[in-house]
Amino acid sequence: MRRLKSYSCGEWVTGRGADVVLASAIDGSAVAGISSEGLDFKAMADYARTVGGPALRALTFHQRALRLKALAVKLMQQKEEFYQLSRETGATRNDSWIDIEGGIGTLFTYSGKCRREMPNGHLYIDGEPEALSRNGTFMGQHIYTSLQGVAVHINAFNFPCWGMLEKLAPTFIAGVPSIVKPASQTAYLTELMVRRIIESGILPEGSLQLICGGVGDLLDRMTCQDAVTFTGSAATGLRLRQHPVLLRNSVRFTLEADSLNASILGPDALPGTPEFDLYVEEVAREMTVKCGQKCTAIRRAIVPRSVAGAVIDALKQRLGRVVIGDPGTEGVTMGALASRDQCDEVRRRIAEIARSSEIVYDGANDAGWLQQTTADGAFLAPVLLYCDRPLESAEVHDVEAFGPVSTVVPYDDGAQAIALANRGQGSLVSSIFTRDDAFAREMVAGIGAWHGRILIGNRDCAAESTGHGSPLPGLIHGGPGRAGGGQEMGGVRGVLHYMQCTALQGSPGTLSTITGKWMRGAKRLESDVHPFRKTIDELEIGESIVTGWRKVTLEDIEHFAEFSGDRFYAHMDEAAASANPFFQGRVAHGYFIVSAAAGLFVDPAPGPVLANYGLEHLRFLTPLNPGDEIRVQFTCKQKIPRETEDYGEVRWDTQVMNQRGELVATYDVLTLVAKG
Ligand code: NAP
Repeated sequence: MRRLKSYSCGEWVTGRGADVVLASAIDGSAVAGISSEGLDFKAMADYARTVGGPALRALTFHQRALRLKALAVKLMQQKEEFYQLSRETGATRNDSWIDIEGGIGTLFTYSGKCRREMPNGHLYIDGEPEALSRNGTFMGQHIYTSLQGVAVHINAFNFPCWGMLEKLAPTFIAGVPSIVKPASQTAYLTELMVRRIIESGILPEGSLQLICGGVGDLLDRMTCQDAVTFTGSAATGLRLRQHPVLLRNSVRFTLEADSLNASILGPDALPGTPEFDLYVEEVAREMTVKCGQKCTAIRRAIVPRSVAGAVIDALKQRLGRVVIGDPGTEGVTMGALASRDQCDEVRRRIAEIARSSEIVYDGANDAGWLQQTTADGAFLAPVLLYCDRPLESAEVHDVEAFGPVSTVVPYDDGAQAIALANRGQGSLVSSIFTRDDAFAREMVAGIGAWHGRILIGNRDCAAESTGHGSPLPGLIHGGPGRAGGGQEMGGVRGVLHYMQCTALQGSPGTLSTITGKWMRGAKRLESDVHPFRKTIDELEIGESIVTGWRKVTLEDIEHFAEFSGDRFYAHMDEAAASANPFFQGRVAHGYFIVSAAAGLFVDPAPGPVLANYGLEHLRFLTPLNPGDEIRVQFTCKQKIPRETEDYGEVRWDTQVMNQRGELVATYDVLTLVAKG
């Protein structure tokens, strides 16, 4: 039997003492033994802090992102090996796809989002500067810097790859090393993937360590620079949340627990409508994908009372087509639970729910069911329940059967549907199947505060919908209350969880130097050479020009109206424009001002400036009447060189002023500028 190893302080280490034997979900044979006894957990935390952390923080955000991408490419090339081993967890190819390729996809997404949405530096600038003084010499700016500790990621058994990767990606981008602790039951798959990651040499040494087995005294070593994330049962989560060291040292703790997710069928979605069919398909899919071992699975199907019978009939039919068995066998559509213990646990939970609900379908009674299975495998047929009096029943809203189990729950009106959904006491996700947008709005207003994610499904988005149960890297995953109150992923939000937010105060010049982003009030560097003649390397933050004047005439306005086709009365009709509360007579088009400003600040000859790719924060502040004059102050605000290209992004602060010194328009011009 293979003995799993932990990756600790740069070495693969086998635990001392007797291993716990991990059995195959398919036939009960021993897959591996696991033990972390004898690991030096303090040394692991120190190694992460002293070796992994500094190596990671030496890289910029974009450099870290490119490592993640390279790792994703590498893992994708090796995916078949993971699929093969994943079968032992009871997963079908489709289940494994979510875990393996879904997990690797998270690395790709984080890599791309980081390079698009974060600077290519070491600190993240949060929002715009805050004016703190009358004359603008004292400003505020929020920034984020990397925590200087280690993130300990404790995962549930159901997603041995995705569970690790969705936490690793944002932590890595943040510049924080990780110690990963997978759930023992399926740790062999995580171990294999970590082996391949370490072998690749793509991640800096110390940025990832692995514990196969218990975490020993690791949590006793946590400081305020560390973070602990936990995904698993509410009971274990509650115990960890109360850990005295985590409390005493204010250690960041993210809890992703179980949840009694609801899916609501709208009153418009009657049998025969596409929404009814989509709903039935979604509930059945959520019951059977990963054998229902998903924290996001639909546990409560909340439907109008008048169609409850039709929903149950349709679900019975659909579930009757499921073929359960060894995922390696042709035609099998649902595999096994992770272990026999898990089967027993789910059966106990079904019995609890059945105290106030009726079992209306048990796949075990279907002829031919379980034909492809072995006696020692962890197979369990889907079970559908019906709870006729859901407002008076506690179990349906409280008891999570972490398997292919769901309960149909009838509602009499919208208010009741909301009350029932919220009886889950806080959930990761709900879905609403309706084409009635007013009903969807009513539901969202009623259940939003109790849910981390809400999917509205109907025929208009069905073809491309990712479904009720799929957390996505760009969207937050987590929910309030019973779901743990944690939040993961959500793009850059997830990265910031591993960084410290600090409010900086000081002069605009000092803050600009620290952040690498020029702010108004900081010194401008006036140069004889037009900044468009400089490469991104030569440009300095704060480098600035003031253009010459241009007088705006009535002919300009009429010419622009003619040319663009924009004949809005404020530009064309003196009386109507004067009657407008904002104008005193005809005014120039805002877009003319932007165009004329470009005519003033652009240096036209070919050179390092390659393209203008947009404007941001455009505001028109003072109307421009015929006879007014404008000029532009144009200042290099921020540079983001791209790691893999021979150019980068340069942002220019642009202020258009009139002859009275009033600000006419203000915006950021975005350009691509060559390196060199
Ligand atoms: P679990 O028994 O609570 O275990 C979760 C993790 O905690 C495992 O890695 C486990 O390690 C570890 N653990 C247990 N006791 C510990 C302790 N005293 N100190 C440190 N770590 C400890 O949960 P599970 O059975 O693996 O997972 C199923 C549950 O997770 C379901 O209720 C499901 O809803 C929930 N879940 C939630 C999410 C989410 O994102 N919200 C995702 C997936 C699953 P060992 O395995 O070595 O004991």
